[in-house]
Amino acid sequence: MHCDVAVIGGGPGGLAAAISARERGARHVLVIERAEELGGILPQCIHNGFGVGVFGEDLTGPTYAQRYVDRALELGVEVLPDTMVLEVEGRRRIAATNAQHGILEIEAQAIVLAMGCRERPRGALGIPGTRPAGVYTAGTAQRLVNMEGYMPGQRFVILGSGDIGMIMARRLTFEGGRVERLLEIQPFVSGLMRNVVQCLQDFDIPLQLSHTVVDIRGEDRVEAVVAAEVDLNWQPIPGTEEVIPCDTLLLSVGLIPENELSRQAGVELDGSTGGPYVDEGFQTSVPGIFAAGNVVHVYDLVDDVSRAGERAGVSAADFALGRRGESAPRVRLRAGDNIRYVVPQVLDPGSLHAEGQRLQMRVRRPVEEPVYLVVEARSRNGREKGEVLLRRRLRYVRPGEMVSLSLPQAIASRIQEAEELWVSVEERDG
Ligand SMILES: Cc1cc2nc3c(=O)[nH]c(=O)nc-3n(C[C@H](O)[C@H](O)[C@H](O)COP(=O)(O)OP(=O)(O)OC[C@H]3O[C@@H](n4cnc5c(N)ncnc54)[C@H](O)[C@@H]3O)c2cc1C
Repeated sequence: MHCDVAVIGGGPGGLAAAISARERGARHVLVIERAEELGGILPQCIHNGFGVGVFGEDLTGPTYAQRYVDRALELGVEVLPDTMVLEVEGRRRIAATNAQHGILEIEAQAIVLAMGCRERPRGALGIPGTRPAGVYTAGTAQRLVNMEGYMPGQRFVILGSGDIGMIMARRLTFEGGRVERLLEIQPFVSGLMRNVVQCLQDFDIPLQLSHTVVDIRGEDRVEAVVAAEVDLNWQPIPGTEEVIPCDTLLLSVGLIPENELSRQAGVELDGSTGGPYVDEGFQTSVPGIFAAGNVVHVYDLVDDVSRAGERAGVSAADFALGRRGESAPRVRLRAGDNIRYVVPQVLDPGSLHAEGQRLQMRVRRPVEEPVYLVVEARSRNGREKGEVLLRRRLRYVRPGEMVSLSLPQAIASRIQEAEELWVSVEERDG
């Protein structure tokens, strides 16, 4: 098969990219999705909270997804469901498989990687104990309850304060289960504060910070977990162990961008995000290969995933139609004090002449008082402080809440000479 733009993954990131690629003029846009249906993770997210940013409405996940599916089909986007992409080559060839065609080879002028992310499983955590039934990731439990109609247990302990774990604490309570406790190893929550309030506090579900699971008990089925308080280095403090009887342990301990295909394609990955390095148009280090959504970095809100997908789709269409010029000089974005990462990681200063550019980042640790977000221009690997281009006051910063910052057009001429832009959190009220 041949197409202008091939999108791998039919979640909100991929659908937004496909729609905007079509709207931008790409004729043949193909979405390849391994599941039977489009929508990515959203069909199992039957709670509300989606779409406030994009539609100004509070929608459920399936409703939000359906709007994008309808628009994509209306625009004539071609869809290959039930089709697994096995390989992507840097020269923009895709190998995929499905029951109908066997092996498919697809040649695309441009590719958008939109494979989403996956949950960190128990094996990656190294919790000691037996291997009884009753240990699930929160997303698996969500699928069982919301789509397949199974309750995975009755008495739950949830490890990790990621958003999926908190949302599932509420869901399981609605379904008649009892959530004994939610344990978080860090001294702060890793998900959104709105979920702490709406999913835990409103249902009197206890949250214990600086606590983890040190043992899982049970032969055939989980019978209890042993929780303990941890010190600042996340080491269990002897004498603080507590046995919590339960039949199910849910893990909500982080999401990892799904990048096996990106790696195969020779795309350079950022160790801090787990996703590809991208420029302001979401092009990866391989020309003609773009990335959209949670494959780039894990977003909090689907609205931001869709917006990023739109951007990637426009860039991919421009590339496919030969409208993207030669690569311009690039400025590297660097994470300074209390910043874990910044996306995009590279920026064409010329792009700022046309429009403002949105940076997205996460902080390393929470500061519950006003701080400044500072952007400075420095020379390469400059350790010296540079010219301050922007300073924005924030009421607080939290690792679980992504921070967005717009670089205005007005600073375009001031970054022409810069090699690096450093973004830092400044805690002094200055
Ligand atoms: C449990 C949960 C609750 C959430 N709650 C909220 C909320 O309340 N509000 C909110 O705004 N956001 C919420 N989100 C976030 C939002 O759902 C995600 O940010 C969004 O779905 C990410 O979109 P995506 O397109 O990047 O990835 P996904 O939705 O994961 O889609 C990726 C798609 O790629 C496909 N794929 C992967 N690999 C291949 C391959 N090799 N071949 C073919 N197809 C492939 C997958 O099958 C999948 O369909 C929640 C997320 C989760 C998991």
